[in-house]
Amino acid sequence: MSQDQLIRLACSKCTRINYWSRKNKKLVTAKIELKKYCKWCKMHTKHKEVKK
Ligand SMILES: [Zn+2]
Repeated sequence: MSQDQLIRLACSKCTRINYWSRKNKKLVTAKIELKKYCKWCKMHTKHKEVKK
């Protein structure tokens, strides 16, 4: 748990932070990129990991 890193997922279109997530940086070294719904763009966009 202590190795888990709190990350934010920001919309790649409007750059707003829409989701919070955790990842274990020992296990996941690649940047997280997820397709999620953005309520500001009103569509599914790519959400990229943003470090705190
Ligand atoms: Zn957006």
